Amino acid sequence: MKMPSPVPVSPLTRRRTRLVRVGHVAVGSAAPVVVQSMTNTDTADVAATVAQVAELARAGSELVRITVNDEDAARAVPHIRERLAARGIEVPLVGDFHYNGHDLLGKYPACAEALAKLRINPGNVGAGARRDTQFADIIMLACAHDRPVRIGVNWGSLDQAVLARVMDENASRAVPLPAGAMMREALVASALESAARAESLGLAADRIILSAKVSSVRDLIAVYRELARRCEYPLHLGLTEAGMGSKGIVASTAALAVLLEEGIGDTIRVSLTPEPGGSRAQEVVVAQEILQTMGLRAFAPMVTACPGCGRTTSTFFQELAAAIQRHVRERMPQWREQYEGAENMTLAVMGCVVNGPGESRHANVGISLPGTGERPAAPVFVDGQKTVTLRGDNIAAEFIAIVDDYVASRYARKSA
Ligand code: SF4
Repeated sequence: MKMPSPVPVSPLTRRRTRLVRVGHVAVGSAAPVVVQSMTNTDTADVAATVAQVAELARAGSELVRITVNDEDAARAVPHIRERLAARGIEVPLVGDFHYNGHDLLGKYPACAEALAKLRINPGNVGAGARRDTQFADIIMLACAHDRPVRIGVNWGSLDQAVLARVMDENASRAVPLPAGAMMREALVASALESAARAESLGLAADRIILSAKVSSVRDLIAVYRELARRCEYPLHLGLTEAGMGSKGIVASTAALAVLLEEGIGDTIRVSLTPEPGGSRAQEVVVAQEILQTMGLRAFAPMVTACPGCGRTTSTFFQELAAAIQRHVRERMPQWREQYEGAENMTLAVMGCVVNGPGESRHANVGISLPGTGERPAAPVFVDGQKTVTLRGDNIAAEFIAIVDDYVASRYARKSA
């Protein structure tokens, strides 16, 4: 009899990069892929910015970027840092500078000191002859304050001098390459040439992170593959202007998943446009879920739920799945402080007997609800064993209590 062939899952091997320290957070080399986010408050509004940074940090953002676009914002940055520290929030802040970064950082050294990293865009540091001097000024200030720099190229603001040169070189070929390929090459060249220039100005190679963001999934994958091939700087991944709702989530996931699977990417941001009134922290949750579903990191217990079908005609099943998802997200900050490894817990909320018991047995804690026409009983499985059958109107609260008990008994208590 022919032996069945094994079906291996290829190991996720990260590309070799340098290690860059951003405050207390390590980016690159063997460090876990870092989740970051960005505020959308007016940075000069200290109270609003502190509140949003706190919200993002509480959701799990490990770096938070804030725009520093004018003098009021630069003056506010040290106060934001102080107020966060007073609340016990140590998340490193990254300053986003365009056009006037050299002036602001020179005039407000306390701003530079309060930031853990500077982000500059070589396409937006200044035009014409001023471009090189202003770029040099920022790099020297980064060196003086011993701050790492992300050189973040964006195709919406691509350095026109680099683009023109790349296009000219292409035009002189016997058979010019398509314009799209040259645009991608210009992005890569702008990032790499800017990094080389920063090093020539004294910024250490292990103080540089690169990004080259575009809004098209396939272009992003191509650009980052090329960057990964041509340098050892850690790479910040993100699809720029990903968009709103499911479109933004799907596009970001499609792009980042391909690159992460290839070991490319040391820190990620998901650039979602929030719904009006929606939480900015959604981008943090999506970034975490991309990493967790790919098996790269664990942030919060994963809830496996079936989609439901004609065998679940009530909304009870969806409501329970939503309640469990919400509960673990809300409890996770506390569990993270108290218990070692609670983020690795797996949960299953299943709609009926078809796949319910099987899927529930694979989870640490699972419940199989009664589908339409089934006995009104919901067996609960803990580590593969059926432990109890829940009935009546209180199933959700009783299942949540079982989950809480499991965390308290299964995961080691952290010493205070
Ligand atoms: S587990 Fe049951 S309810 Fe859920 S999708 Fe499968 S058949 Fe439908």
